Amino acid sequence: MKDSGQKQNRWKLKDFLRIGLGGFPEQGMISIDVTYRCNLSCTHCYFRYQRYDTELTIDQWLSWLENRRAHGYPFLICGWLGGEPLLRRELLEKGLGYFKSNVIFTNGTLELGPWPDCTYVVSVPALRTQYTSITGADAKTFDKVKAHADRKDLQVLISFCITRPMVNRVPEVPKEWEKTAVKGVYFEFYTPRYGDNLQLWVDWKSRDLIISQLLELKKIYGDFIANTRQELILMKAAKFRAIVDDCPFYHIGASFDPMGRRKLPCAVGPEADCTRCGCILPVFSQILSKRRLMVHALWDGIQKELRGRKRTNTVGHWNSLPASRSRHEIHI
Ligand code: SF4
Ligand code: SF4
Repeated sequence: MKDSGQKQNRWKLKDFLRIGLGGFPEQGMISIDVTYRCNLSCTHCYFRYQRYDTELTIDQWLSWLENRRAHGYPFLICGWLGGEPLLRRELLEKGLGYFKSNVIFTNGTLELGPWPDCTYVVSVPALRTQYTSITGADAKTFDKVKAHADRKDLQVLISFCITRPMVNRVPEVPKEWEKTAVKGVYFEFYTPRYGDNLQLWVDWKSRDLIISQLLELKKIYGDFIANTRQELILMKAAKFRAIVDDCPFYHIGASFDPMGRRKLPCAVGPEADCTRCGCILPVFSQILSKRRLMVHALWDGIQKELRGRKRTNTVGHWNSLPASRSRHEIHI
């Protein structure tokens, strides 16, 4: 069995040509629930309702990956989810090298790393004052998470899932993080499950207002608001509802539970209320699926790269990201 702890599978020109000519391949973007365990209990968590209590062993996961390789599945993008994936470092250590791009979605309560060749998306769904009530963590945890995310040597983004209690606090979020080394804050909205009482869900009208606010904030913070303009426009209700009518993730991606079984329609599971989806994933999948949008996104990425080199960002600490768009492989 190959130990793929070090990066082995890299993007090559032929990959881009293949995608450019043939489109993004089926299951080119997958997510793996690394573990069923988590040390937080967030109010908006879909995962705990899936009630897993077992997981594949490391060797079983490696066989699973090898089996997929033998069947010719693409190993392009993988989102490592949970539970808290950093509770199971050995699987990450051995699994990351299989994929060309990796995104580790963590709650940030454990030290990040040591893998530099991936993106860490640290989920912080609240400001300091609400953090305990939203995540169930003790009062010291927010500062611990902030210290863990503040890593110049790693590619770290904050993911802020907007729930209804947070709708009026969005402008404070970039302020909270701008003096750290994180590369930006990515916003998305809470996705309810069917039958939820919708107390946390942000209705379409409020959501559109927040997106307009984020577009304005981008004029101040530039790329530190990590959602691109294109993504924000696609997140607006009219366009987004048309996209999730037939969620493009279903056609190009796949999610797998801690036992390696396919989860449908996505990581949120069969109870996902797609008619009220707030994830960024449909937008990102739509961009990957439509050549016209992908060209636009690539051009946007090149412009950012150039801006990053000139260091003209108003926040002043933006470290330019490679045009690989790795930071957009968020929320898989
Ligand atoms: S950190 Fe993630 S998996 Fe853990 S409770 Fe919160 S939302 Fe759920
Ligand atoms: S919950 Fe959202 S991302 Fe998941 S399948 Fe439904 S629309 Fe797509």
